[in-house]
Amino acid sequence: MDYLDNMEMLDSGIMDTVLGETSAYDPGSFSERDVMDALEGECGIDGFAALLSPAAEPHLEEMAERARDETRRHFGNSVCLFTPLYVSNYCSNECVYCGFNCRNRINRAALDLEGVAKELDAIAATGLKEVLILTGESRARSDVGYIGECVRLASERFSTVGIEVYPMNSDEYAHIHDCGADYVTVFQETYDPIRYEQLHLAGPKRIFSYRFDAQERALRGGMRGVAFGTLLGLRDDFRKDAFACGLHAMEIQRHYPHAETSMSLPRLRPAGGVDNHVAVTEAQLLQVSLAYRIFLPFAGQTISTRERPVFRDGIVGLSATKISAGVSVGIGEHSGEAHGDGQFVISDPRDLAEITEALRRKGLQPVMTDYVRT
Ligand code: SF4
Repeated sequence: MDYLDNMEMLDSGIMDTVLGETSAYDPGSFSERDVMDALEGECGIDGFAALLSPAAEPHLEEMAERARDETRRHFGNSVCLFTPLYVSNYCSNECVYCGFNCRNRINRAALDLEGVAKELDAIAATGLKEVLILTGESRARSDVGYIGECVRLASERFSTVGIEVYPMNSDEYAHIHDCGADYVTVFQETYDPIRYEQLHLAGPKRIFSYRFDAQERALRGGMRGVAFGTLLGLRDDFRKDAFACGLHAMEIQRHYPHAETSMSLPRLRPAGGVDNHVAVTEAQLLQVSLAYRIFLPFAGQTISTRERPVFRDGIVGLSATKISAGVSVGIGEHSGEAHGDGQFVISDPRDLAEITEALRRKGLQPVMTDYVRT
């Protein structure tokens, strides 16, 4: 599909490498021996492929042991806390699985800067030091200037600010970075270009490769960290998407060694009246998380509020290193003035105090920030 006029093109070859390796990946071709080899030695790409395969499912306990060791080695017993702030739910894309789909008749809203400051104040009052600014993907309703101003307000109150908005060009990422953002999250959703086209019916998001290269453009724009994710359950075989997502992060790390990388593992959830079927079990989600940890031991890992508290409590310290608290996915809800509908259904409504208490009970250290801005 052709790029739109304003879209910057890159040609690092990373996308071809990832898609080529993924199309050759056959999850059914691995044996128990392959899994044990991956667990006992260095875990390269073949080992990662084996750990994601059905052959590894009976070995979750051994995987968990190795993953816990890797997490301890690279992160100690710390777990970072943050919360997302949705500032706008306008979107110009038609993604069939999402409540913000531009064809959905939901209550739309975008906070003005005063409203954003109010929300940020309410979050800051809880003691959190890290915030993730989110919007639906509409350049018309939340342009780069507006997102920059939201980030500026956030950086006055928080020591770490991330964004999860539409993919931008490098110079736009540079502007957002100057305003105070440190990291950028972009979910590829699915790494199968054909499935991608079926799920994204209209809007700039349809241009698969522009989205794919977003992390590279963010790093070229000066961002410190980038996060990757695939929405597990969008593709027939979630293992292929998890494999592609891990490779994507590894390739970025290889090309940009200074980058801080992290992984997210959302599963499909009911959203805006769309009853998305959850096709990935909790055990399979755990398998993906453990495989990511063993393959990318240095990469952070965030576990979403889409998951149940008991699952989230179990996975932190094992493979996940970052957890959201006090989450609200509607517009304006933190300061008690809901203006617009939320993006998806959450499963863990606990506030910061409840989450930190749960972490402490497990012997983990809740960390509000792991970064000092200079
Ligand atoms: S997934 Fe993102 S781009 Fe797609 S409709 Fe939802 S908010 Fe918009």
